[in-house]
Amino acid sequence: VDGLPQLAAQPAPALSFEFFPPRTEALEAQLWSCIRRLEPLAPRFVSVTYGAGGTTQARTHATVARIVRETRLTPAAHLTCVGAPRAEVDEVARAYWEAGVRHIVALRGDPPAGMAQYEAHPEGYAYAVDLVAGLRRIAPFEVSVAAYPEIHPTALSADHDLDNLKRKIDAGATRAITQYFFDSAIFLRFLDRALAAGITVPIVPGIMPVSNFTQMRKFSAMCGAGVPDWMGRLFEGLEEDAETRRMVAAVVAAEQVRLLQANGIDEFHFYTLNRPDLVYAIAHILGARPRRPD
Ligand code: FAD
Repeated sequence: VDGLPQLAAQPAPALSFEFFPPRTEALEAQLWSCIRRLEPLAPRFVSVTYGAGGTTQARTHATVARIVRETRLTPAAHLTCVGAPRAEVDEVARAYWEAGVRHIVALRGDPPAGMAQYEAHPEGYAYAVDLVAGLRRIAPFEVSVAAYPEIHPTALSADHDLDNLKRKIDAGATRAITQYFFDSAIFLRFLDRALAAGITVPIVPGIMPVSNFTQMRKFSAMCGAGVPDWMGRLFEGLEEDAETRRMVAAVVAAEQVRLLQANGIDEFHFYTLNRPDLVYAIAHILGARPRRPD
């Protein structure tokens, strides 16, 4: 691997950016300044996550609608099936289709706080695979699904989890986006296993630039993403030093995407957390340049 010269020589990859719907006016302003900063990089799509419960779901719809209305970006709406009857989920999907949204990131969702183990709604789609099939019956959506290079935390086994991904693709999904990871070798091995299992659609790495290491470590323990010891050492002693942390985070993420690109990966999904700067810098290093509006 030739390092930065090789990276700089590669064509710019396809990018996508993930946002979460804002809870307050201040956060809404932050989200929109993030969107405006990243928009000129012409991502393939931008996605908006979907929470549990009516108010947060309404915020997703409103954010997606505003992206449709006020930008030239292609939106992808996340949609979960946990805790809702099929009719309600179908209604949301139909409304998206009517509003011009053509891409859904179809997910099961996590059990709500207080429910120890996931239980499907009695009239709901039980798993993401069922939601994918349901969406395909409603309209010819482009459907992306989640994949887990380090295995979903409650999966019965690695093979079962991979088989679940295969079934989601067979049901009509045309792209998988991964949970974030920091050890690129784990992702590359996962790609090999997926290919061996007959999965041929793009599996796009989810990249999480780490602006707050302590918080990220707590969150990772819940979602099953491993945090390597070397990362702990790189962020050691920087708890009170946000500026240096950001520089270290840029180096960590740049090295991660460099390794992936050197291994032929040409599509990246960024968990922006509604903060643009690190994402913009890493996208720039990957070769993305702003396009002037025509
Ligand atoms: P599934 O693919 O249904 O899999 C869930 C688990 O069930 C896996 O362990 C699987 O192996 C297992 N399984 C599948 N079928 C069966 C079966 N028949 N019997 C037994 N076990 C089975 N969450 C949100 O709430 N909102 C979001 O916007 C959101 N966006 C996300 C975006 C990405 C890219 C990723 C990676 C995750 C996102 N999540 C989101 C988190 C996701 O909802 C959780 O990880 C959830 O626990 C699993 O969702 P899934 O779609 O992967 O589920």
